[in-house]
Amino acid sequence: MVSSSILGFPRMGRLRDLKKANEAYWADKLSQQELLDEGKRLRLEHWKIQKDAGVDIIPSNDFAFYDHVLDHIQMFNAIPERYSQHKLDPIDEYFAMGRGHQKGDVDVPSLEMVKWFDSNYHYVKPTLQDNQTFKLASDPKPIREFLEAKEAGITTRPVIVGPVSFLALGKADRGQSVDPISLLDKLLPVYVELLEGLKKAGAETVQIDEPILVFDLPQKIKDAFKPAYEKLSSSNIPQLVLATYFGDIVHNFDVIPAFSQLYALHVDLVRHPEQLESVIGQLGDKQTLSCGVVDGRNIWKTNFKKAIELVETAVQKLGKERVIVATSSSLLHVPHTLDSEKKLPEEVKDWFSFAVQKASEVTIIAKAVTEGPASAREQLEANAKSMEARASSKRTNVPEVKERQSKVTDDMHNRKSPFPERYSQQKEHLNLPIFPTTTIGSFPQTKEIRIQRNKFTKGEITAEEYEKFIEQEIQEVVKIQDELNLDVYVHGEPERNDMVQYFGERLDGYDFTTHGWVQSYGSRCVRPPIIVGDISRPAPMTVKESKYAASISNKPMKGMLTGPITCLRWSFPRDDVHQSVQAQQLALALRDEVIDLEAAGIYVIQVDEPALREGLPLRSGRERENYLSWAVDSFKLSTAGVKDSTQIHSHFCYSEFQDFFHAIAALDADVLSIENSKSDAKLLKVFVEESYPRHIGPGVYDIHSPRVPSEQEIKDRIEEMLQYLKPDQLWVNPDCGLKTRQWKETKAALTNMVNAAIFYREKY
Ligand code: GLN
Ligand code: ZN
Repeated sequence: MVSSSILGFPRMGRLRDLKKANEAYWADKLSQQELLDEGKRLRLEHWKIQKDAGVDIIPSNDFAFYDHVLDHIQMFNAIPERYSQHKLDPIDEYFAMGRGHQKGDVDVPSLEMVKWFDSNYHYVKPTLQDNQTFKLASDPKPIREFLEAKEAGITTRPVIVGPVSFLALGKADRGQSVDPISLLDKLLPVYVELLEGLKKAGAETVQIDEPILVFDLPQKIKDAFKPAYEKLSSSNIPQLVLATYFGDIVHNFDVIPAFSQLYALHVDLVRHPEQLESVIGQLGDKQTLSCGVVDGRNIWKTNFKKAIELVETAVQKLGKERVIVATSSSLLHVPHTLDSEKKLPEEVKDWFSFAVQKASEVTIIAKAVTEGPASAREQLEANAKSMEARASSKRTNVPEVKERQSKVTDDMHNRKSPFPERYSQQKEHLNLPIFPTTTIGSFPQTKEIRIQRNKFTKGEITAEEYEKFIEQEIQEVVKIQDELNLDVYVHGEPERNDMVQYFGERLDGYDFTTHGWVQSYGSRCVRPPIIVGDISRPAPMTVKESKYAASISNKPMKGMLTGPITCLRWSFPRDDVHQSVQAQQLALALRDEVIDLEAAGIYVIQVDEPALREGLPLRSGRERENYLSWAVDSFKLSTAGVKDSTQIHSHFCYSEFQDFFHAIAALDADVLSIENSKSDAKLLKVFVEESYPRHIGPGVYDIHSPRVPSEQEIKDRIEEMLQYLKPDQLWVNPDCGLKTRQWKETKAALTNMVNAAIFYREKY
């Protein structure tokens, strides 16, 4: 028979229970035992959900209080001494690495945390020493949790991160020079010990994740697989299911011989269904294929017909016993259950499937393939109906939107004149000094702002009252910017809850959940809006606030928008049309907004694209170039409708552009503001090398900390930047928006920033 399997379940619980428990523990409001008990309760509940749904292969050790990679760091005793030296309780030492620890006389910052592949989840980076050693914890978590499930009557398949990925995703600690992969020989005995322990505990199979196989790998990483897996499989361990996800592995087939002893291989057939045939061709005679056909990264109901077709292709070649139906990746990236959603339109809700629903999906597909479609007729028919309803819905087929897209021309992507001509008009029109100063958009989101927004959402104050309040806030920030003597003002974004949700709420084609939280890192969750249909803009979204702000200030007021790629990337996108189509729809809506802002007297407009970089496909080559091409087009389409005299800004929360500078240059923004204060000014070298002609505002101070930079520090930064950029090219601004800061430090920092700019203005 074809069995069903899940690669990992969300940890937070139905009501973000884990978040609440963690935060209560950190605030000393929950005891350690209570926290551990809550973890246990959640694990049991999640196993039970999967068991009740009929899932054959249920994961364990997918749970983590903070992050699963951090679990491994601790379990392998790869704990930097700055944490271990304090002899904290294991759970506190664990949280210290995850989020830093500042209590009593212990004061350590967290380990570095970075994005997990191209998802919005962040993992803690293994941080290794030159003389690194590894030692298995005395009560390893995977064994403990396997036994815990066993005791509850549930046989699970433990999940662990494979040794090559664990090292390849790590880095040398500060001041160390070790190449992580060189530690493989030291690490493998620990894996053997762990796997043998799992075998003794009764685990028959183990899921071992090697997701780095979807990357383009350097030869030395490729070479690590063979010795690693030979070593593992020569011992008395459970059968291994090697899991890959978020990409295809065809380009890494040359390492597959390393897996000749593996029991099974898991591949992502949602992202890359076309790899199926070639993967089958690589399998040994007895090996099993785990087909990831239920999307672990998005919230759409699985199209059963398509999924069954794929699985049947595998069954024809391999036979039923050698095929598993699975989620494409862990379900960590989708919300817990659709049952919590009471406010979604019924029509739309019928198109969604969250983790609990996906657990049923894998079992239905497995059953339909094993016993034939008649065995699941009802479910298959209902599914076909949902698919049909979605495909023919008015929401997914808005003729006006399609019509408009069909009329997009190349010309619409280009400004009227090249930059030098635009700049001379902007100079005259805006009358700006050299070293112009500005901020990135948001000013402190005070408690008062949150209170009033909440009252408005709950209907406790009227729209007029709320609007009045927002106007007062704008007056206040205009006054403050007058006092600070900035050159280009912003309205401060007090009306925005979130830079994507705010726009989603004002666009047709979006829907919102009330409980659709997904873990971003540690206890932090995000609730991405969902693009359900064709997108259009029923009415202006930001004009009122910007226009009001401009009307009460004497300096140029900068309009503030979130760009099409960021809107797309920080939402759950549609899976029924290509992302480039969705980006273009967003771009057209934003284009109208940009033009309306200009008509309302806003002559500086910033379109933020902090998510452009994270959307980059994981591998270089054609896929990446293709993405960059439509991403750049959508930015240009949204901004190119203005006069030459209107200045277009864009903002990025990073400055590591080396890999794809051509795309940044192709945006043709008049001014780019980028995060740079923590980086080496050398990153700016690429602008010189490529003779970048337009204007740049590399952040002169870090906005993530309350620390106030001195005027001298900012001057030093500017001095450094002037080694790379021309004086009339340089803007002076902070790294990013100031919404998470307090007013006190904001005013002090900006005062120093303006003084530093004036110093250079006088000097040149
Ligand atoms: N304009 C936004 C702000 O200032 C930009 C935020 C961002 O880049 N993440 O808040
Ligand atoms: Zn930013």
